[in-house]
Amino acid sequence: MSVKEKKLAIVLPAYNEEPVIEKTTQILLALLDKMVQEALISADSFIVYIDDGSKDKTWALTQSLHAGDSRVKGIHFSRNFGHQNALIAGMTELTDTDVDYVVTIDADLQDDPNSIVEMVKLANDGKDLVYGVRNDRTSDSWFKRFSAQSFYKVMNLLGVQTIPNHADFRLMDQKVLDVFKQYDERDMFLRGIFPSIGFKSAEVYYARAEREAGETKYPLRKMLKFATNGITSFSVKPITMIRNLGIAMFTVSVIFMIYVLCQYLSKNTTSGWPMLMISVWLIGGIQLMGIGVIGEYIGKIFMEVKHRPRYVIETKLK
Ligand code: UDP
Ligand code: MG
Repeated sequence: MSVKEKKLAIVLPAYNEEPVIEKTTQILLALLDKMVQEALISADSFIVYIDDGSKDKTWALTQSLHAGDSRVKGIHFSRNFGHQNALIAGMTELTDTDVDYVVTIDADLQDDPNSIVEMVKLANDGKDLVYGVRNDRTSDSWFKRFSAQSFYKVMNLLGVQTIPNHADFRLMDQKVLDVFKQYDERDMFLRGIFPSIGFKSAEVYYARAEREAGETKYPLRKMLKFATNGITSFSVKPITMIRNLGIAMFTVSVIFMIYVLCQYLSKNTTSGWPMLMISVWLIGGIQLMGIGVIGEYIGKIFMEVKHRPRYVIETKLK
């Protein structure tokens, strides 16, 4: 091949992934070998684990894997900073020098690693961003399917561009990463940011497998936090909706006032207790909800203004 092959880095966030990390490494190193043989990538391509403050032996295993093969690199966070921050560290810390492509994938390999070959081919053909998109969700529980679908629908309604059924399995080239580094917000919602960057993109379809071993690190609590964060990072529509609701309530109450006045003037008075109670509770509820939504945004401003580091790195294995 006349042109120099591209250097690829595969980034894997890992939080308590002791049961899978060795197998994952084996599969990915074999995949790298195969792609090097096919002259798709250069021989110095590597994989990097971001240990997101695991409490099990994930980091110890990463160290011994690194000792066995220098193509395994690692970043060790001082504590748990979350999946999104682990991805950001992986995309920016070890990959800013001479890496051409970065692929992010979960350490449990639920996303089909073989799709990486197709992603690299598309990138070699000039695509800057390649999204891994799941073409079926049969490995998910009905609840996860339902909640994910509702989430993408709500995002769409709020005018946020996301790629349905695309999680954080994607390839980015250095051009995209350079732009990405200019996004300085603390709370990153990567699935919304990348589609907003632009450039030439493509999609690769795959079927998502069951988790190889270990258990999910995304309980309902974390999923809800993730969804709220996605919405409030990209849209102020919830505030607009509350305002519109307020205007509607006000209009209704003016009409209602006229009605009550007429009743009073015609001396047609009733006890009025049920109506009173309902209004008090309803209006109270709506007001609290409104304050809650606004509070969510103010909290977000507070966090952004503090501008704290997104993560703290304890060790790096280069
Ligand atoms: N993960 C992480 N930090 C966390 C939670 C998860 O780095 O606080 C990693 C985890 O190790 C995995 C990926 O994020 O590589 C996705 O997590 P998981 O597979 O548990 O989520 P699910 O596939 O069930 O949505
Ligand atoms: Mg998983």
